Amino acid sequence: MSNIIVFVEHSQGAPRRASLEALCAARDLGGAPVAVVSGPGADQCTEVLGRHGAAKVVVLTGADQHSPDGLASDLAAIAGEESAAACLVAASATGRDVLPRVAALLDSVPFADCVELRAEGEGYVVVRPWLAGKCLATVGSSGAVFCATLRPNVFPLSEADGAADIVERPACADVQLRVTATEAKPAGQLDVQEAPVVVAGGRGMKEEEHFALVEGLAAAFNGQAAVGASRAVVDNGWRPHAEQVGQTGKTVSPQLYIAIGISGAIQHLAGMRTSKVIVAINKDPEAPIFRVADYGLVGDAVEVLPALTEAIKQALAEQ
Ligand code: FAD
Repeated sequence: MSNIIVFVEHSQGAPRRASLEALCAARDLGGAPVAVVSGPGADQCTEVLGRHGAAKVVVLTGADQHSPDGLASDLAAIAGEESAAACLVAASATGRDVLPRVAALLDSVPFADCVELRAEGEGYVVVRPWLAGKCLATVGSSGAVFCATLRPNVFPLSEADGAADIVERPACADVQLRVTATEAKPAGQLDVQEAPVVVAGGRGMKEEEHFALVEGLAAAFNGQAAVGASRAVVDNGWRPHAEQVGQTGKTVSPQLYIAIGISGAIQHLAGMRTSKVIVAINKDPEAPIFRVADYGLVGDAVEVLPALTEAIKQALAEQ
């Protein structure tokens, strides 16, 4: 069985769902996953990591501030010590920052934003979106440590009885970069990458105040939905960049993506076209978003949203 290193992000000891998905993907390959955790509260993650397939948990100590280069050095060193065949992380902002650094240190190739992963021969094969999501490429490598980021909400999550060995290791202190401040999300607010439902608004919402309607629709899903936005909206300053979906924003793959007043530019589609069900609301019946949508509603968003919100509230209340 090959050892697979998985870096697990967490918030005060609560692992991110996307990291647990990466851990389950490593377990499902039949390997012996070694989960690596760092930062305040890291030691509180160990039990849940054992239940999600970690054979061993390495707790990096003394790394109270996140350092991308320090963490990459640690992951590369642990990969060497564990004779690891692969290193996996979630395709989050942190994962996308750290994994290429690990690959460089290991003289390997980073495979980004993978939506499938399997062992083949002496190495691994992944499927990943290519050309801004217009096609899917199947690529692989063998020999060097296989390094990949996995798209959130794609790899199945499951847990079972299991306990991991726990090892403490001092984090690399020789670092050039340190995160000196972070801003916590308001309690209960889901990240757009991890929410099962994303309700995204575009320039067709016309003004910032109309986003109260988008928020209202998201709230109707009882804590299961996050608000997303197109770049046009973020550039206008109506919504924060953390909510931007697309090529220069976040890549999402929720169960349900509702695009409201979004035209469907290729750069937006790159971030959401692997969503399981896509609903588009647009007043232009020729809008390109309808070409990728499973369900389309032609109409003025400001008129449609209150009725849709009420209908969803009622339907969920009857369940
Ligand atoms: P628009 O294209 O202006 O579309 C607005 C839509 O709203 C139209 O379809 C219109 O019919 C509809 N509408 C108008 N009024 C109403 C109404 N009352 N009710 C219902 N519908 C209505 N974009 C992203 O989103 N994410 C990215 O990450 C991203 N990265 C980019 C990277 C690069 C390098 C470049 C060049 C561009 C990038 N873009 C990105 C920008 C992208 O090309 C588009 O400009 C952007 O997605 C358009 O946003 P939009 O759909 O909200 O606005």
